[in-house]
Amino acid sequence: MKITALRAYQVDLPLREGRYAWSGGKSVDVFDSTVVAVETDGGVTGYGEVCPLGPFYLPAYAEGVRAGLAELGPQLLGEDPRELGRLNLTMDRALRGHPYVKSGIDMACWDLLGKVAGLPVCQLLGGRYGDDFHLYRAISQRPPAEMAENVRQYRDEGYRRFQLKVGGDPEEDIERIRAVAAVLSPGDKLVADANTGWTQHEALRVVNAVRDLDVYIEQPCESYEECLSVRQRTPHPFVLDENIDGLQALLRGHADLAMDVVNIKISKFGGLTRARQARDLCASLGIAMTIEDSWGGDIVTAAIAHLAHSTPTPLLFTATDFNSYVTVANAEGAPQRRAGRLAASAAPGLGISPTAAVLGNEVLAVQ
Ligand code: MG
Repeated sequence: MKITALRAYQVDLPLREGRYAWSGGKSVDVFDSTVVAVETDGGVTGYGEVCPLGPFYLPAYAEGVRAGLAELGPQLLGEDPRELGRLNLTMDRALRGHPYVKSGIDMACWDLLGKVAGLPVCQLLGGRYGDDFHLYRAISQRPPAEMAENVRQYRDEGYRRFQLKVGGDPEEDIERIRAVAAVLSPGDKLVADANTGWTQHEALRVVNAVRDLDVYIEQPCESYEECLSVRQRTPHPFVLDENIDGLQALLRGHADLAMDVVNIKISKFGGLTRARQARDLCASLGIAMTIEDSWGGDIVTAAIAHLAHSTPTPLLFTATDFNSYVTVANAEGAPQRRAGRLAASAAPGLGISPTAAVLGNEVLAVQ
């Protein structure tokens, strides 16, 4: 089987809540997502999706996805999409770095592999653990009382895990954490995610001020060293996200006892192949994981579901259903949350069919 063409489609994904805001005053109203189609001489097409969290979160941006696909695409014609290890090496030789560009291609090739094998991707990634798994709800940064009310509403919809977007003014962040903790019940899990927004001294003040609460602290500061310093001075369970972008970072974090949980975003690692490698390493080391992506619609949500559902349950801290945050569905067959939980499709591949009318005309064709 050979790759005969690669196409890209641009899809706008507006947010149900109108806006998603996090640390440092950053926010996005409409996500710019790229759907990637990998066509083959066997007549089967695989689909992937990449959606950066705006241009100012990770070193990734929406136009960069498309520019990177134009650069990489010609190098992949004639390659066998089922040989994921080889394909990733080919991509790395053709384009140094830029893992997010490669993510959509890799995802599409897993979709293809599943389709030709007649198996859902989660089975190919290791097997299905349990009937479904826990989701978390990200709570956009707002005044404390509004965030508490937002959590109360999502709790009524079945969510039991919440990730508060903090990383703003430390005094207000302390209030945010306290206001939300007050509306939770035993068994619920609360994560305060600063998304690198605090300086080291601010982070220490916040973690000390919420010392009496059951809360996880996620990526308080910009650098790994600042985070490690905070980690060493707080009893709270600790999550690293932005600093964990590959196996070297994971191994260093493990050696330093720098975290209890890591956040594995598919595009941050460069696709399902590399995210699975990180997932399996974490599972072997006993590090729990949040499995998700930077953002996305139905196709990204399907890919998250397959990776999360094939992660041993005790080590899957939580995962995300981005398709419930946005107003546009870019594919049929994607998993839909039920009472704060999600399950991967049992259909071959990712189990999704992109909606042609939503994709519109291709913005890039390499053939
Ligand atoms: Mg995070």
